[in-house]
Amino acid sequence: MENCIFCRIIKGEIPSTKVYEDEYVVAFKDIKPVTPVHVLVVPKTHIGSLEGLNDGNIENVVHIHRAIKKVAEITGISKDGYRVIVNCGEGAGQTVFHLHYHILGGTKLNERLI
Ligand code: AMP
Ligand code: ZN
Repeated sequence: MENCIFCRIIKGEIPSTKVYEDEYVVAFKDIKPVTPVHVLVVPKTHIGSLEGLNDGNIENVVHIHRAIKKVAEITGISKDGYRVIVNCGEGAGQTVFHLHYHILGGTKLNERLI
């Protein structure tokens, strides 16, 4: 996926502030954080959105969720709590079409979702 910005971050062609990486995922700081801790977790394989998950790539969900817990621990937000958001599709505000999970924390979050 040549023009995918997150694929380019994964390949190291675009700089990012990595928080965690393993064989399956990369986690890096969002360039426009909306909370003190705002990290994106992305699978190393290109999947456009949640709608792109299928029987052949669904195992990425496990790797992503394992990484989310690790990122929460690394950034020190495990105990206080954090929110995980996945925007799926333009109508939900998705702007980068490579599956990514937002991890938001480091402050008291509003109980309302929207
Ligand atoms: P979404 O609206 O769910 O598609 O979220 C895309 C997120 O990617 C936004 O929060 C952007 O700030 C973030 N973003 C876009 N480009 C970069 C980049 N080069 N490095 C880090 N985060 C980025
Ligand atoms: Zn991609």
